[in-house]
Amino acid sequence: MEYDPNNIFAKILRGEIPCRKIYEDEHALAFEDIAPAAPVHVLVVPKGEFVSFDDFTAHAPASLQLGFFSAMRKVAQQLHLPQNGYRIIGNHGADAGQLVPHFHMHILGGKPLGGLLAK
Ligand code: 5GP
Repeated sequence: MEYDPNNIFAKILRGEIPCRKIYEDEHALAFEDIAPAAPVHVLVVPKGEFVSFDDFTAHAPASLQLGFFSAMRKVAQQLHLPQNGYRIIGNHGADAGQLVPHFHMHILGGKPLGGLLAK
């Protein structure tokens, strides 16, 4: 799939749409999900034009991939999630229900999260 520069996360990255920012560095921006599925629900997006996990891991420079996953760890640390635990989710494509075509990962926590998948 070709990258659409008008997707909602591209607009957030450009500052055209507001977000509740949690963390930002040269590689990634993290912000609260607009429809939280848990007490803590943060989205982490890389600063680059990648549609999905597959696109990102195949085509992003190694420095960006490392920076992105390091940013995810920093977000979890900043929110004091490691002690009680948290879940990271990445949706790729239709069967996973990916809604926004800019690669992102979800960080969820703040309560026991139950089983892996909704029945
Ligand atoms: P996906 O299914 O693509 O992995 O998840 C996309 C997520 O983006 C959803 O959890 C949805 O609530 C969130 N989302 C969609 N539009 C916006 C928005 O404008 N702002 C924020 N902060 N989150 C959004």
